[in-house]
Amino acid sequence: MKILVTGGTGYIGSHTVVELINAKHEVVIVDNLVNSSKDVLDQLKEITDRHIDFYEIDCTDEKLLEPIFKNHQFDGVIHFAGLKAVGESVVMPLNYYHNNVLSTIVVSNLALKYQVKKFVFSSSATVYGDQEVPFVETMNLLPTTNPYGETKAMSERILRDVAHANKDFKVSLLRYFNPVGAHESGLIGEAPNGIPNNLMPYVSRVAKKKLEFLSIFGNDYDTPDGTGIRDYIHVVDLAKGHVLAIEKLKDSIEVYNLGTGQGVSVLELVHAYEKVNEVKVPYKIVERRPGDIASSYANPNKAFKDLGWKAEKTIFDMCKDAWKFEKHYQEK
Ligand code: NAD
Ligand code: UDP
Repeated sequence: MKILVTGGTGYIGSHTVVELINAKHEVVIVDNLVNSSKDVLDQLKEITDRHIDFYEIDCTDEKLLEPIFKNHQFDGVIHFAGLKAVGESVVMPLNYYHNNVLSTIVVSNLALKYQVKKFVFSSSATVYGDQEVPFVETMNLLPTTNPYGETKAMSERILRDVAHANKDFKVSLLRYFNPVGAHESGLIGEAPNGIPNNLMPYVSRVAKKKLEFLSIFGNDYDTPDGTGIRDYIHVVDLAKGHVLAIEKLKDSIEVYNLGTGQGVSVLELVHAYEKVNEVKVPYKIVERRPGDIASSYANPNKAFKDLGWKAEKTIFDMCKDAWKFEKHYQEK
């Protein structure tokens, strides 16, 4: 298939590009580079030994994006392009609604206009809010506490309606849990600017002694060791889920959790990281972070049943590859 990957130079998008090419698909990337760099294209070339068509375009700009659809006959679109920082979305809600919701409207509108039949969308476990774990696709979505989560729930809603109204347009909504780790080459991974917000990149910076210690946000949750539980999933497993989702998409609208189904606490992750990488990660327990929930993990059975997909990599693989990328990235 010929597939348009929006946000393809970003963290999850770049790993998915690699897996799409491994699976013999043709890929075109559109990204406005607001949270990634052109260097990723060189890394992708090194990993895949392929030239990949790239357009630096904002997906909210229909006029600029339309020629890409006109000139390539895409079989499918994977729409990753979006802003993803929860805290920032609270401070700049309009940026988030504008960028994330409008890009979904523009990209799906062009997909319809140019008869692209398959559309895969990056959603998030955040749409479940704080409900009983494990989260299952059939649960109602809970109003989220931040604009970022709302943009995901709204985009899901829009795409459902579009799929219902257009019988040849098939949509897969993928709800990611906590993507971590990096490609085993160490060439691509998550490279946040400034001080990371997320746990794994923060742990990597502490291990590298770029940051002094990790602040663990609360050890008084109702979990076995008191620290927050999440379903960390290796980004390469996640990327493979996209390949299967687009290849096997057949219903009008499908929704899948992409997670391992296993909850890991903050302390468990820190200890796994120290053990597998033989490094020290000093930490301090601090106050809970506002908006955090105690536990989030998937019931991933539907993806296995329908797509034959399940996460293969362990928390040790995730920590090992995150560290490898951190070393590579920092040395550059
Ligand atoms: P990322 O920031 O690394 O990648 C997103 C890419 O989209 C970036 O390269 C950015 O430059 C690009 N982009 C943003 N707005 C754009 C626009 N208007 N036009 C063109 N390009 C644009 O983030 P990621 O972690 O790879 O996330 C990919 C998608 O998955 C996002 O939609 C994100 O919300 C979603 N998601 C991420 C996580 C996570 O924890 N990483 C979890 C759930 C869902
Ligand atoms: N966390 C932490 N210290 C940090 C960053 C995160 O203790 O510096 C905890 C956070 O409270 C949550 C887990 O690690 O329990 C995962 O947080 P992250 O921001 O990576 O993902 P989230 O699930 O919040 O999207």
